[in-house]
Amino acid sequence: MSTTLLGIVDDRALGTNMRLIVTRPDRLADAKAAADRVIKAIDDAASRFRDDSELSRVNREPGRQFHVSALLARALAAGLRGARLTGGAVDPTVGSAVRLAGYDRDFADIPADTSPIQLAVSHVPGWRAILFDERARTVSVPRGVEIDLGATAKALASDLGAAAALEAVGSGGALVSLGGDIALAGEAPLDGWAVQTSEDSNASLDDDEETISIESGGIATSSTTVRRWTRGGTVLHHIIDPSTGLPAAGPWRTASVIAATCVDANIASTAAIVMGESAVAWLAKHRLPARLVDHDGIVHRVSGWPEPSTRLR
Ligand code: AMP
Ligand code: MG
Repeated sequence: MSTTLLGIVDDRALGTNMRLIVTRPDRLADAKAAADRVIKAIDDAASRFRDDSELSRVNREPGRQFHVSALLARALAAGLRGARLTGGAVDPTVGSAVRLAGYDRDFADIPADTSPIQLAVSHVPGWRAILFDERARTVSVPRGVEIDLGATAKALASDLGAAAALEAVGSGGALVSLGGDIALAGEAPLDGWAVQTSEDSNASLDDDEETISIESGGIATSSTTVRRWTRGGTVLHHIIDPSTGLPAAGPWRTASVIAATCVDANIASTAAIVMGESAVAWLAKHRLPARLVDHDGIVHRVSGWPEPSTRLR
């Protein structure tokens, strides 16, 4: 079988690594410009790290009803879809709990602060507190609630970035990865999209990691090993169990999931970390192939996750 010639470009976006691949290398620059535009638009709409994002304006004025942009509406809908599908294991109101755990700035700046932290069980207000009308594009958040779309906005950016890249190229296929949240659009290369599964999206491609080949949809990884920090001797990480307001304490340190879109893959990978043991049945019920790594580093392939095929060397 012959292979498809690919155009590949690496960059940074949304505070993480971005990679764009297209099957029409001659149109790479157009694809990149189109993907960049939509990713920047998502950042403007839904970032919680930027005071000037549309989401930050909504969070700053509880009780007020906002008419929001189509893009923020889409990101809110994706976040609330996650909550509905997971029975609240993924909850876009974890914002203040994440902040209380010390993740209140770009991750690169956190490790400098190792002072002790008072970790009271903080109430996660719950996604049902958000008043959102998708059709009218109105939203209001009650006092004490802070929306955090961290788990879905990046995945949505991958989905929309891949679609925009494909549209700009006009034919073939496109892949966008943002920190390991990968979306595929259009036709796959002849031998499929080779995706390396690793716990750290910064891992280089010549590491001894397994790769799988997928044709369409999305794949996402959530991990408690990468965004992890210590405050006063307590190891914390960035995935919160909404039922306790504390970092999730289940058996999986990393979860990768394949789904029809990157948003759905990401909903499921975050949910798997929060759900712990019961994620296995939930993933099977939703037919979502997953690769779960436990705290001893043992890999559990569930719900049809492919066996490793080729190794990149
Ligand atoms: P991910 O890496 O996709 O699992 O997303 C983790 C990010 O989502 C965190 O950095 C938080 O901003 C946010 N987050 C943490 N816990 C949750 C949760 N239970 N539901 C929704 N978002 C969460
Ligand atoms: Mg993710």
